[in-house]
Amino acid sequence: MAIAYFQFYAELNDFLPRDKRHVKIPYSFTERASIKDTIESLGVPHPEINCIEVNGKSVDFSYIVRDGDNINVYPISTKDLVKSKIDLQPKQLNIICFVLDIHLGKLATSLRLLGFDTLYRNDYEDEELAKISHEQSRILLTRDKGLLMRSLVTYGYYVRSTNPQQQIVEVLRRFDLFNAVYPFQRCLRCNGLLKHTDKEVIVDQLPETVQLQINEFHRCQDCGQVYWKGSHYERLQQFVESIVNNGN
Ligand SMILES: [Zn+2]
Repeated sequence: MAIAYFQFYAELNDFLPRDKRHVKIPYSFTERASIKDTIESLGVPHPEINCIEVNGKSVDFSYIVRDGDNINVYPISTKDLVKSKIDLQPKQLNIICFVLDIHLGKLATSLRLLGFDTLYRNDYEDEELAKISHEQSRILLTRDKGLLMRSLVTYGYYVRSTNPQQQIVEVLRRFDLFNAVYPFQRCLRCNGLLKHTDKEVIVDQLPETVQLQINEFHRCQDCGQVYWKGSHYERLQQFVESIVNNGN
């Protein structure tokens, strides 16, 4: 039997059982396997990895693990600390957009509120999510490690927090998006873009008090939902400010 030794750094330890965090992990094996498959069998999904060093040399995901190898695995947060020849992260996206798994409905609404193109449905199958992420170069946000391990997924991130308000801050921080926030541009229901609309066009859809008091309206170009600055607007604006302040 052969043995290789793995050490995972920083946030990659979130994926390991407590007794394997921040220590050298002996890994016994009998079959030939790539370093990518071996790392994932230990619980760490490939989209979270920035670089891998084997016996001090950087390798890519196709490297075949050998007996006696000393393997260090680094996440994105250590990018500036660990200079590696082979960067395993895909090239940076010009336009950041997302697709979210079914557990992240509230996060999806928050991302839309902040102006990010965000696909979410509560009936997407795992296979469909991986395919959409791959075909449309969307960052897959998920609480499912197995989903991130699918080979189709290039852009992905495991959302650590289970608290929706912390989740949005976590995602903005991870992808450095605090300066890319453009709130109140998208439909919270369907992700469509909002456009100014004249009151007379939609007046029939409005509650009576709104008909009398409000004169400025926006409508979703996809689903037709009408938005106005009602009593809930102030609350949403406070929410946006409290999120954006985390980036200062
Ligand atoms: Zn809509």
